[in-house]
Amino acid sequence: MPFEIKASEKAKRTVNPIRAIVDKVLAGPPSTCPLKRIPLSLGDPTHFGNLLPPSLLTSSLQDCASSHKFDGYVPAFGCPNLRKSVAESFSSENVKYTDDDVVVASGCSGALELLLTGLLNPGQNILVPKPGFPLYEVIAVSHGCTVKYYNLNPSDNWNVDLNSLESAFDSNTVGVLINNPSNPCGSVFSKSHLKQIIEVCEKHNTMVIGDEVYGGMVFEGSEYNSLAEVSAEMGGTVPVVSCSGMAKQYLVPGMRVGWLTFYGPGLEELKGGVKSLSQVVLGACHLAQEASSRALDDGCEEFKKELNLKLQTQAGALESGLKGCHGLTVIKPEGAMYTMVKINVEEFKDIANDIEFTKMLLDEKNVFALPGTCFGIENFFRAVYCAPVEMLEEAGVRIKEFCEDHKM
Ligand SMILES: *Cc1c(COP(=O)(O)O)cnc(C)c1O
Repeated sequence: MPFEIKASEKAKRTVNPIRAIVDKVLAGPPSTCPLKRIPLSLGDPTHFGNLLPPSLLTSSLQDCASSHKFDGYVPAFGCPNLRKSVAESFSSENVKYTDDDVVVASGCSGALELLLTGLLNPGQNILVPKPGFPLYEVIAVSHGCTVKYYNLNPSDNWNVDLNSLESAFDSNTVGVLINNPSNPCGSVFSKSHLKQIIEVCEKHNTMVIGDEVYGGMVFEGSEYNSLAEVSAEMGGTVPVVSCSGMAKQYLVPGMRVGWLTFYGPGLEELKGGVKSLSQVVLGACHLAQEASSRALDDGCEEFKKELNLKLQTQAGALESGLKGCHGLTVIKPEGAMYTMVKINVEEFKDIANDIEFTKMLLDEKNVFALPGTCFGIENFFRAVYCAPVEMLEEAGVRIKEFCEDHKM
């Protein structure tokens, strides 16, 4: 008998939906378009080489490697220096973290997986935004759990539709995931809106799970407020566990350093559970943790300011190109690296939905954007503005031509 080793039920339940949707966009013969590909699809800010990490981070990595002081194991839940740096740099007047409130993981996604594994029992659910980042559902379903959706409203700058949030709760709901600033929307919640959201969580006695991997990455006119800070201002009665990391704010997704911060009452058992779970992989890369600690201690304020300005300029370049396009509605991005553009399909003669739009755009103009369906919403596309300005301008020109070619 030849071997036929079966994969576990858990492995079979673990499926990222993006792949299947993207395969539909990429199906058929390869594009014959002579123009060079412009990928507005990639959530990796390092792809084009125009966005580099702070030099302090690079030199710290080199120094740490040469010193051989960071070749060994560290506590699985994070090296003491990094936990201290995170605790200090995320603390404020109202929110005081100690190093005990920080758990380090392999990236923000590793932190999320650790938290949800520590929190969820089969049959329970968490509430997640729609449109939203697909990973939340992937992790929940892998644990035999489900997600329920609350809506973000495109006609209200992608704010949470509070009625849909209210009605999503059931007796098995154990957390509300809030992603601010948002991937895929590029939106930033105001402090008063965050208060409204946390009020609903409080009413339902449900903890907040923050995905704040884009924390601080906001443009002029918007202000970033952390969920813990807002909860604290409201009296600190609603517990908040947030994930963040180096990937986006320091432009090093390859470094795989992320963390959880625990704020508020009633989290001791969960924190302990998460720390126990971290023993399974013996933690994130020690070298990368130490270098991250040094970058956080420095703050890299100049770098962050410049990065936000660059992203804002790039967002503006893409936005002005798309604004003039027939059949598209642009919602001004306020932060992160993304914008979700509405496709008014009734204004096109031969495009039925977002999958067709993105597929034809790729075939005819070699511009690749992800259909909104990847994030749970139809007839939008997500465009990333990490590319250099000239490339984003060129994308705007091509998309405009494309929309003219297909207009009703
Ligand atoms: C990129 C991203 C992550 C994952 O970050 P890593 O640190 O690379 O694991 C998590 N959440 C959102 C919303 C992201 O866009």
